[in-house]
Amino acid sequence: MERGRRISEALMFEALRGSGTTVWEWDVRNDRLSSTDESAALLGYAPGEIADDQIAWNALIHPDDLAANHAAYLRHARGETPLYEHEYRALGKDGGWHWLLERGRVVERDAQGEPLRVVGVLSDITDRRALQEARTEAFAAQAANRAKSEFLSRMSHELRTPLNAVLGFAQLLELDEREPLTEMQRHRVVLIREAGAHLLEMIGELLDMTSIEAGRLAVNLGALPLAPLIADCVELVRPQADAAGVALQLVPVAEALRANADPTRLRQVLLNLLGNAIKYNRRGGRVEVSAVRLDGLLVITVADTGVGIAAEDLPSIFQPFQRGAQAGSTIEGVGIGLAVTQALAELMGGRIEVQSTPGVGSTFRVVLQPAP
Ligand code: ADP
Repeated sequence: MERGRRISEALMFEALRGSGTTVWEWDVRNDRLSSTDESAALLGYAPGEIADDQIAWNALIHPDDLAANHAAYLRHARGETPLYEHEYRALGKDGGWHWLLERGRVVERDAQGEPLRVVGVLSDITDRRALQEARTEAFAAQAANRAKSEFLSRMSHELRTPLNAVLGFAQLLELDEREPLTEMQRHRVVLIREAGAHLLEMIGELLDMTSIEAGRLAVNLGALPLAPLIADCVELVRPQADAAGVALQLVPVAEALRANADPTRLRQVLLNLLGNAIKYNRRGGRVEVSAVRLDGLLVITVADTGVGIAAEDLPSIFQPFQRGAQAGSTIEGVGIGLAVTQALAELMGGRIEVQSTPGVGSTFRVVLQPAP
């Protein structure tokens, strides 16, 4: 029977060791810890390297965890907890901190009730803790992101009301025939109105951005003839191109091209790309717009002869608030246009592609599904 007991005990220890757990026993009065070698092996130490008493073991425990470790044991020793249990960091042979989970129980007391013998188990939970921490961090990051989106969305809404008032009154000043403005005043009011309109546009983009992030932006897909919409967009930005000294050319688009798209959102996408192609161009430069059917898809191309984008900036320019080489530049922009553009294209089942050579120019393509 004794032999059978020893075999099953050995089996049990082996099984526990296999799962990264060791069993220990502490003779309290003589301060003798059994199985120190196995426990120390969890931390990478060789047999005999750590002495088999509590003092030697405590020397491995992280100074910030030592008091709590002792307190947990005392609570159990006084009979306040059915089990002694504590998670703490211990110094590994490699110099790094390992997370250990220790559980134990007093199994023998003297006549006065003082603990004589404690037995327990010790497991390395470093991986589990790392996973837990990563989860907690990811959760905190998500919460922070939600709070940011919420804030941006509310702020954009709040900003729009007074801004619309500024724009409305600027327009009233311009149109008032009973108290007409002088030429100089009219010029200044136009500047106020233009700056306000630009601000309104940026706030609109911010709102779109937050709606997209929150998954609240819906698109209305339908069979959309491309030729008139593209021509419209080109005419809308022509004054901007003229002012910048950039030649704007539309290659005639086949009337038959129909995309499965949302007219408002596709217009927004094209105006963004056209705006950038003009903004990041040079005096005497060119912007060419075309659309074709290619491999069963529809491709609208906006090609410019502007400053171009360095290869290392290409991945980041589609991230919100990233402006690549234009960070800190005097060219107006906050860096959300392309993020919104890309998200809108994807919501319509399409994508945005870009090719660019610094100093030569950039080509942006909107790839869309054809109308069913
Ligand atoms: P913004 O124009 O407000 O900075 P965008 O998201 O539209 O924001 O663009 C992000 C960045 O990508 C720009 O700051 C610029 O560095 C780069 N970029 C976008 N379009 C072009 C282009 N046609 N030519 C050169 N750089 C461009």
